[in-house]
Amino acid sequence: MDLGLKGKVAVITGGSIGIGLAIARAMASEGVHVAICARNETRLQEEAEKIRSTYGVSVLAKVCDVTNPDQIMEFSSEIRKTFGGNDILINNAGAGTNEKIMDAPDTKWQYYWDLHVMAAVRLSRALIPHMEERGGGVILNNSSICATQPLGYEPIYNTTKAALSMFSKCLANECIPKGIRVNTINPGLILTPDWISTAKKLTARDDISAMDYLDKLAKEYTPIGRFATPEELAHFFLFMCSDKASYCVGSTYFVDGGWLNTVT
Ligand code: NDP
Repeated sequence: MDLGLKGKVAVITGGSIGIGLAIARAMASEGVHVAICARNETRLQEEAEKIRSTYGVSVLAKVCDVTNPDQIMEFSSEIRKTFGGNDILINNAGAGTNEKIMDAPDTKWQYYWDLHVMAAVRLSRALIPHMEERGGGVILNNSSICATQPLGYEPIYNTTKAALSMFSKCLANECIPKGIRVNTINPGLILTPDWISTAKKLTARDDISAMDYLDKLAKEYTPIGRFATPEELAHFFLFMCSDKASYCVGSTYFVDGGWLNTVT
């Protein structure tokens, strides 16, 4: 299927590892030029170089902590300078948490509010005018199944991801007259390097291996009985960015192997 994305420009936050990197690589494989950001510059530049040499597209890789409004503005103007604007924005950067509501300080709530919500607000505000000038585009907010079906150990994650989903819905209504389609993706269990290193730590003193631990977790949580690869999820992002998904507006799509335990 020709997705018709060749020559477009996609901005992907947190594009240096895991899901964001898989999306950046999938975009590049379709001939999309990419702008990626993250905080760790060495990893970011290494992955950017691999994308350039593998797919022959232009890659802007800029350090940007998306919780910092000034760095978001610098990233946005660099995108403008390099590509003249963008057609696609993927708000992906994010991280899990671990706390009890009664113990977590305000500073922690604020950090994850900035990371999961304000980053998407600020990037949208900065980049939508460029997208409008180019005749429209697509914004995808990478939320989580936890926005709807919370995990007990991470209330701050669950709450801020739920807020991201509502922001996404409101933005979709505001943007569709500009020809910009906004949607939310709620992934389930996606096997990123971070999951593997967490599993290694959790099983360090146990008889079970990290991979067996993850396998058990996936069987317990998901009807499909396994994690998805980041590439499996990235394919869905690609489709949602293409005109093949032209009637998809303001919705939330679960990519979760059946984990969501309700109908919406
Ligand atoms: P990873 O930890 O593998 O990657 C996170 C990426 O975001 C990295 O590139 C990281 O780079 C970057 N990042 C983190 N914090 C910031 C920040 N403050 N500013 C800029 N970049 C940042 O995560 P995943 O790939 O697993 O997750 C990606 C998204 O998908 C997240 O929003 C997550 O909530 C969501 N998700 C993941 C699921 C999973 O099972 N993996 C399931 C459901 C949702 P650096 O550290 O260098 O900044």
